[in-house]
Amino acid sequence: MPTAIDRNLLPLIDHALAEPGWLPAMPAALRAAYAAERLLQCRLFNRRLLITLTLIFDFYWVGEFTSMPEIVSLSGLLRFGVMTPAVLLFIELDRRGRIGRHYAAWLLLLTVAPAIITALICIRTTSIAALLDIRATPLILLGTSMAVRMPPREFLINTSAAPLIFIVSLYFSHVVPPGEIGSLALIEVSIAAAAIGFNLQLEWRDRRMFLLNTADQIMRGMLDAANQGLVRETLTDPLTGIANRRCFDDTLAMFWQHGWSQRGAVGLIMADIDHFKLYNDHYGHQAGDDCLRRVAARIGTLIREQDVLARYGGEEFAILLPEASPETVRSVAERVREGVEQLGLDHAGLLPAGIVTLSLGYGCISPHRGAIMRDLVAIADGELYAAKRGGRNVAMSSQAWDKE
Ligand code: GH3
Ligand code: MG
Ligand code: MG
Repeated sequence: MPTAIDRNLLPLIDHALAEPGWLPAMPAALRAAYAAERLLQCRLFNRRLLITLTLIFDFYWVGEFTSMPEIVSLSGLLRFGVMTPAVLLFIELDRRGRIGRHYAAWLLLLTVAPAIITALICIRTTSIAALLDIRATPLILLGTSMAVRMPPREFLINTSAAPLIFIVSLYFSHVVPPGEIGSLALIEVSIAAAAIGFNLQLEWRDRRMFLLNTADQIMRGMLDAANQGLVRETLTDPLTGIANRRCFDDTLAMFWQHGWSQRGAVGLIMADIDHFKLYNDHYGHQAGDDCLRRVAARIGTLIREQDVLARYGGEEFAILLPEASPETVRSVAERVREGVEQLGLDHAGLLPAGIVTLSLGYGCISPHRGAIMRDLVAIADGELYAAKRGGRNVAMSSQAWDKE
């Protein structure tokens, strides 16, 4: 069900989508939801990716045995003693929901850590063979920053910090020729810029998708509410606000089916205002309408919670009683008759009592005993006419229909 706030978001979303700029501006009311959804995506995506990247990162250690034996123990300690356990611990704690709102900060730390380790190796190595790895480092950093999903702020920090650490390490390296430092730094900066551009595009797409999805959900909610309103309208009598004939038919079928499956009985009371034509003739049709409304409202207070009151047509009302015993139906019918009488609505055209009264006929049938739905209506209707013939203002039932 859309709230007023939801509806108000639609123009803001339209505006955000239409506004030119680097990224669609997220309306303030949606920022928290967007951040939460984005973080959830990151978490699910990163779990496997971090393990894969860590395995690849660890695998470099094998190559170091031959290319840079002098840093094998330091590198092994950092890779297997620090980085790998830290990643595994992070993933396990995240899986158990123990990381909470600091997820992005921890992720940032874990993604900057390989840059620090690589920088340390670059500084400590004296093997000329390490040059190949060092030259390839910008590409590795690019791959990592593009693959790991993180919120925009953490991504920007990562994409600035990792290249910076790498560039600084070049100056302290024993193997990188000084003339090469400038070009390597430039390559690293260009690659970081490319990663930022790539991530901006992802962010642009994510934001648009989120805004479009949210607008879609709001509109679907509005449509559902409108549909529900229409359905309600088609099932309601506009004059009295109670169920109409169509709703009566549907409810009877439903109660009948329920009675069938539960081996219970369904009760029906038909009630008709006595000499209502005379009422209209005397007071006019508007007063007649008002009388119908008041009688309907009164009956509504006299039935059980599970019973359904409907306007069957004209000045006739029907009360459907699910899971009812003949005794219950009788007592509800009598209560309704008495209640309307006690309402004391003047009926000057009707002497001697001079008040609005009801005649009622009722029945109660167990569907599984071989009866059909129409039998119940016919019985209650027949009893109603008997009540009319019997002098009106009575609730009538011959009980002949009750086979129990
Ligand atoms: P009885 O006691 O035998 O039922 O007599 P009655 O006059 O109530 O029955 P009859 O069928 O002769 O007249 C029913 C009247 O109910 C006639 C009709 O104008 C009136 N009526 C039906 N629907 C409405 C309505 O929506 N508003 C008003 N004001 N009157 C209505
Ligand atoms: Mg009548
Ligand atoms: Mg009638």
